[in-house]
Amino acid sequence: MIKVEHLSKNFGNLAVLKDVNLEIREGEVISIIGPSGTGKSTLLRCINLLDRPSGGSIYIDGVDILDSKTDVPKIRQKMNMVFQSFNLFAHLCVMDNLTIAPIKLLGKSKQEAEQKAMEILTLVGLAEKAHNYPDELSGGQKQRVAIARCLAMDPEIILFDEPTSSLDPTMVSEVLSVIRRLGKKGMTMVIVTHEMEFARDVSNRVMYMDEGIIYEEGSPKQIFDNPQKEKTRAFINRVRSIHYHIASPKYDLFTMHAEIEVFCEKQILPLKTRQNLLLTIEELLRIYRHLLLTTVLDMTLAYSEKQGRVELVLESAGEAVNPLDSTEVADESGLSLIRNMTQGIDYQRVNNKNRLTLILN
Ligand code: ADP
Ligand code: MG
Repeated sequence: MIKVEHLSKNFGNLAVLKDVNLEIREGEVISIIGPSGTGKSTLLRCINLLDRPSGGSIYIDGVDILDSKTDVPKIRQKMNMVFQSFNLFAHLCVMDNLTIAPIKLLGKSKQEAEQKAMEILTLVGLAEKAHNYPDELSGGQKQRVAIARCLAMDPEIILFDEPTSSLDPTMVSEVLSVIRRLGKKGMTMVIVTHEMEFARDVSNRVMYMDEGIIYEEGSPKQIFDNPQKEKTRAFINRVRSIHYHIASPKYDLFTMHAEIEVFCEKQILPLKTRQNLLLTIEELLRIYRHLLLTTVLDMTLAYSEKQGRVELVLESAGEAVNPLDSTEVADESGLSLIRNMTQGIDYQRVNNKNRLTLILN
């Protein structure tokens, strides 16, 4: 259905896509994963003709879509794309968002378009919202409307570019359920996503993109459980972390909090974990405060994709004593808060330092 050969795309001197080759058959669900900045969006935009490739070919149902003689609007009708940021028409109600293109581009009658729109809204669970405006909907509902709008054009292929990345974590699953449902109905889909569990269970094949190419591809089981190439392995098992070296009690707590929030957002951590983490750090730093007069503190926050857990490691110099030992801590309530928000707290003496490891709830 889609065949991409030796596709390249440069932005000025920046070679984003170098030599992308792939083939997608009818009814397949393909997930594309990979670090950010590797050209996943660019690839989707090239396939959908939103970006002009620098070289190579793209065939849709055997038709070379880069050929100047190709009827581009006709090809576009076969494909539709769902973006991270919904891109709904804010001044139109849900129903009008769904019917405007079928009426203007497919020449459907208003009645026909509205009937179809209602069927689709029922499919995505939003029939009740037909006459609401986008700003009256939650993020998850907006994205379901965006998917519905896409379906209203009767596409043969849907391209999703990180459809859940800008959603509050509580709303991710409603959108993923809708996509999963389309997959079951046999829709051909290409999904760029950071949701590894979802990619694993919804896709026929997973493609790992890196270095401007499809670096490795295989079944979800192959890619997630037994990747063959080093970079794929590193990505799948990656642990993301941020590090703070705190040298005095005068450190900038607000900047630190803001950075940690951004980190949590990037890793798409559940809201509860974020809140636990920020509170835990705040309480820990209160407890460490008197230590910071005489020693420095190294704090590392790490998220393991595979284990799906957040770990906080604090290292401080000074005599061998557990900084959270209750006899050392004046603030008992802070300590019990920390205990409530963690699954485990481990103390070790390593290289003449006191190391505390906390696993967050
Ligand atoms: P991904 O979706 O994998 O995160 P993108 O396809 O968005 O990656 O971007 C890949 C690279 O191309 C990035 O370095 C980005 O800055 C660059 N890029 C994307 N679009 C443009 C553009 N229109 N002009 C210049 N550079 C761009
Ligand atoms: Mg992208």
